[in-house]
Amino acid sequence: MKIIKIETITVGLPFENPGPESSFAIAEKNILNSLLIKIETDKGIIGWGEAFGYTSIETTKAALHSMIIPHLIGKNIENKYDIQTINKELHLKLHIFGRYGITMFALSGIDIALWDIIGKAENKSISELLGGLKINSLKAYASLFLYDNAEAAAKVSVKAKNEGYTIIKLHENAMAPIKSSREAIGNTALMVDVNCVWSEDHMEEIKNTLTEAKLYWLEEPIWPPENYSGLSKLRDQGFIIASGENACTAYQFKEMISNKAADILQPSVTKVGGISEIVKIAALKKNNFRVVPHSPYFGPGFMATLQVIGALTPDSEIERLYVDLKADLYNGASNIDNKGNISIPNGPGLGMEPNLEIIEKYSVN
Ligand SMILES: [Mg+2]
Repeated sequence: MKIIKIETITVGLPFENPGPESSFAIAEKNILNSLLIKIETDKGIIGWGEAFGYTSIETTKAALHSMIIPHLIGKNIENKYDIQTINKELHLKLHIFGRYGITMFALSGIDIALWDIIGKAENKSISELLGGLKINSLKAYASLFLYDNAEAAAKVSVKAKNEGYTIIKLHENAMAPIKSSREAIGNTALMVDVNCVWSEDHMEEIKNTLTEAKLYWLEEPIWPPENYSGLSKLRDQGFIIASGENACTAYQFKEMISNKAADILQPSVTKVGGISEIVKIAALKKNNFRVVPHSPYFGPGFMATLQVIGALTPDSEIERLYVDLKADLYNGASNIDNKGNISIPNGPGLGMEPNLEIIEKYSVN
């Protein structure tokens, strides 16, 4: 079958933040913007993808429309091996514009949509195309906004715990919110994601306080994210280090492994090169590390993450951005059950179809 049309659609999903106003860079006011990619074939099959969005959406869209979509129209796609061929051509053609960032976000969204198409053509879920589900539901962790406020961090952590989450992740870099959250939730698993704001020297000053917080993992603690020797030293000091949401393709994950830079590898399906790239990362020889994909989004990228984890890395938790969504593309598929788990749908392609009425209603094109 041939690719005949590719559209980009921005949807702005309204949400309620369970805490005070946050300066977290991914949301504008109370709207989470997602960049959807819709690929149509001449057989009438439609595939959905998602490129990492939020404040980079307009730039990624421009990359798609000017550099990528013209190259794809008319391409033939029959099976999952054709996705490899298309990716190889595009990666080679576009590498001079960057192997990470906007170009790769765009290619990630295309890759996800192509997998959705092949799944639908073969009437199989993507997890079946990858060998089948090894697990039917995943332990979810609540991924909180950055509040930079001790009282708010504690309050929102407790709210998530009371709703059934058994693992909580903070995006904080001051000690007071980390300490107050730990005190408030008792022995519940707690992680801290620093988004790279600390230096190695600063880590030295705060390491005792952090150790007392008994973290399940410490994510991207230091600048820059590719400071592998710094990360490796922190592992030697006993910290469980998570990293990789900003790593460029499976190639850089190999470097992270050989430099002993992380216990938890976090490829992001909408950023790293899509499903195809996570398949390669999941195949890397596991030597005291786990692959736990990054997924703070609610579109086809989230659904793709469920499919990949279910088939390839079933010991992974699933990241769930802790907001109260007021409009949902997948009718509650990202909500936890009473055990704090999220089920993996097993319909054709991404497991479930997005709600077209929601897309139309919240489209901001
Ligand atoms: Mg992170």
